[in-house]
Amino acid sequence: MVALRCKHCGAPLERKDLESGSAYVTCPSCGTTQQKVDAKAYMDQMMGQIQSWISKAIPGGFSLSQTENVDSIARFNIFNSNIRPRIETEYTEYRFAANSLLACGLMVLPFTTDKTVAPAHSPSKAFEFNARAKSVYPLAVDAESRDFVTSAEEMGSAYALLINNAKLLHEDKPGRYALMANNFSEMSKSFSKIKGYGPMAERFSALAKVSEGCDRLLNGNAAESRQYFADGLSELEAVKAKVSSDLGLGMMFGAVSGEASQARILADLSDFVAKNGGDPMKTLDTIHRIMSFEYPSAGGWGFLLGNKDRFNEVFENLSAVLAAKNGGALPIASGAGQYLIPFWDIDLRYSFQTGSLFSKKSVEVVEDLLVQADFVIDRECLSDPASALTDIFSIKPVKSILAGVTGKETSISGGEGIGRLSSTAAMNSPGSRRIAVPLSTKREAEKVVNDYLQARASSDGKLKLSKPYVKSLIYVPCDVDGAVRAPEGFGALVPKRTRRTGAQQLIVI
Ligand SMILES: [Zn+2]
Repeated sequence: MVALRCKHCGAPLERKDLESGSAYVTCPSCGTTQQKVDAKAYMDQMMGQIQSWISKAIPGGFSLSQTENVDSIARFNIFNSNIRPRIETEYTEYRFAANSLLACGLMVLPFTTDKTVAPAHSPSKAFEFNARAKSVYPLAVDAESRDFVTSAEEMGSAYALLINNAKLLHEDKPGRYALMANNFSEMSKSFSKIKGYGPMAERFSALAKVSEGCDRLLNGNAAESRQYFADGLSELEAVKAKVSSDLGLGMMFGAVSGEASQARILADLSDFVAKNGGDPMKTLDTIHRIMSFEYPSAGGWGFLLGNKDRFNEVFENLSAVLAAKNGGALPIASGAGQYLIPFWDIDLRYSFQTGSLFSKKSVEVVEDLLVQADFVIDRECLSDPASALTDIFSIKPVKSILAGVTGKETSISGGEGIGRLSSTAAMNSPGSRRIAVPLSTKREAEKVVNDYLQARASSDGKLKLSKPYVKSLIYVPCDVDGAVRAPEGFGALVPKRTRRTGAQQLIVI
């Protein structure tokens, strides 16, 4: 059987393309278009290398074309003493490298890239290994040896395809989802033939559907994409459950969870577009803005904001927003504004010493604090945490309040009004109101409050603060006329971030 191989990545080329009259052929795995003569030259070179590898492995000038004439005992011996150890070494190396890629998220949302997945080999090396293993199959006479060769061959192919897909994550090039869908379904077939990798076969069959959906969506066919996303999502959820209880594949749980949350976003997004007749590109642009924002990757915030896992949580919140627009509900505070602005609702407990020498007592206070949930795109909030939130100690500086404490105080802060506002939050439909997307994670909200408290408490040792407790996100109706206008419930505590949020800065659905 004559097949050609892509000169760029080493993938076998499709038979139907070879039989066409054109002098050119496009690789279904990496997308490179090339002349058939070049693909033929590359394949001849690869076959030559395999033959020379076999000559080195088997002393006495054995040629694969003679295999049929060699009796099975001799073949068994040749295989076990000359071939198997060599294949085994490489197989172990490629399996190890494949496993490390399998622990990475292997999907990207449209218009975004992910450069963190870094393959250790070139795809052509892995495809060469696949071809080498394939070529020695006739030497494997017993079932165990055949299983071994098949596993090695399939691992080589699956790994090569994984590398090609990892490269497609790096670059937002047109048509990449069609290539990814091809590679994922071929990978799925390969992993289904390797013992212990069943859940990976299911994972890639699901990702093939998600990629297929992205391809349709980007070609303007939101209605058709819905089923692909819905099926991909439910299959990924099933894989997640299997992987979490699998000792061998447990390290892939985080990756599969991330892929499932991307699939959920896409499912919600295509639903949203299909129901509201909106422009999918506009909604995708929202995702693009969230992803392409340049968050600081160094300094005190670099650790949190430079970590791409944070997007899983950000996208879960975006999904909740899209689902609410599709007829669901969000925790919305009462009020008349036409924009729903997300805030983190936080419980803050602190205690302070009051009274004179003999009647000294400690007073415990619980305050509510709100942090505007898109504070991470405002660099001033990162250097001045007080500006991200309802600064309950701003009425009077902590030091002077403590100096004036007489023993009758029940609180030294002034946030009671905020508690009233946040307690009105209840699950409601957003209706036609526009919703700003929360851009920070729970941990980031906790950090900004901690930074704020540290700055406030450092000036006086009498103030004892406990760790803030981030309860949940709530959506507060605000008006927007050029900038955000907070409702009256905030009193004097409107965060500086809210006052300076320009309408164009809001990322809204
Ligand atoms: Zn190729």
